[in-house]
Amino acid sequence: MFRGSKKEAPRNELFDIDYEHGTITRKSDGIRVLALGSVGWATLEKELTSTFVSGAAVILQRMGYSYGRYLGKVARAQMKGRQDALQALQMFAKESGWGELALSGGDLGSGQARLVLRNCVFCLHIKEASEPVCYVVAGLIGGVADEVIQATHRVLEERCVAKGDAYCEIVVERLG
Ligand SMILES: [Zn+2]
Repeated sequence: MFRGSKKEAPRNELFDIDYEHGTITRKSDGIRVLALGSVGWATLEKELTSTFVSGAAVILQRMGYSYGRYLGKVARAQMKGRQDALQALQMFAKESGWGELALSGGDLGSGQARLVLRNCVFCLHIKEASEPVCYVVAGLIGGVADEVIQATHRVLEERCVAKGDAYCEIVVERLG
């Protein structure tokens, strides 16, 4: 029912949703997009954790990191020499629905930074955690930072909405 002309239904500027063929495509580069709901994501995380216990953190971090490395390559191609990892991360967070990412201290370029993620989608439905749970976010940030800056970073989530903090906060430190 949304198959009308773009003039009639300008409900989305970033993506083309083709109900007939079951595809969502990003307009800027024609790449297919997979949409996951936040409740389903939370279920996936909970089940991974109950199956693999602390191994789930490694799996989720690694998923984020691999995808972050890919995004970092995309950003490097787009930025052509300008190495602005923060700008890249903020753009990906915005258009991928991770949440609202901001620098709260330091500077990624100098190797020490503190990032705040408000409205984080990854821990939206996880309550009363005793530890931060946004391993995917830490992985994504590490992957993008490593690839854009071409150095290795240690990334730790220090605050997390899932354990009652007002926002998720991630500390990034360049190694070596
Ligand atoms: Zn979190």
